Amino acid sequence: MRLLKSLCLVGGVVAAGCATSSPKHGELSALSVAASEDAAFCEHRVPQENCTRCHPELIPRFKEARDWCGEHGVPESQCFLCHPDLSFEPLPVLAPGADLKKLSQAGEDVPELESHAVPGKVTVFDFYADWCPPCRKVDAHMFGLLNARGDVAYRKLNVVAWDSPLAKRHLAQVENLPYLVVYGKDGKLVRAVPGLNLEALDAAIKEGASR
Ligand SMILES: [Zn+2]
Ligand SMILES: [Zn+2]
Repeated sequence: MRLLKSLCLVGGVVAAGCATSSPKHGELSALSVAASEDAAFCEHRVPQENCTRCHPELIPRFKEARDWCGEHGVPESQCFLCHPDLSFEPLPVLAPGADLKKLSQAGEDVPELESHAVPGKVTVFDFYADWCPPCRKVDAHMFGLLNARGDVAYRKLNVVAWDSPLAKRHLAQVENLPYLVVYGKDGKLVRAVPGLNLEALDAAIKEGASR
């Protein structure tokens, strides 16, 4: 996997570290995510049960998963120096019937989006990657929305890397993840929402619902 685009824009702030392929850096795994919503956080701002500074015996488990920041000596998924916007909250549980599908599991091409827009619903296409912490925040937001209303469909596309067939087709002009594309109830494009901007996403969904 070639080096990912080296900077990641989060809410207009440039955050280093969305690129995880340099040798000193590992991959962001889900090992640091809390098991339950009321998990206690330690002084390191990590769910205590998963913190390798509180529990050094956990280190091998993270290294095995390649989730290790060699530069800072903590799991990549606990390194606030590399990822200031880490999020550990477990995702809301999806209600049965929530309209979520994965269109691309591992970067495989999806030639166009329009035919996947669901008639009568606002369809949100989410280009994301597992190494992208802000993408988890989009999930948390969207899961809440899917649980609250039946007229929204969520279609996830796992980019994996910037040179995957999926990224080459859809993200050539895109500088950072997440990248969302919203279609209205009429099945037509509303607009793309680049980066983590939940207000802009909500505005696009609102517009899509009024069509
Ligand atoms: Zn700790
Ligand atoms: Zn680091």
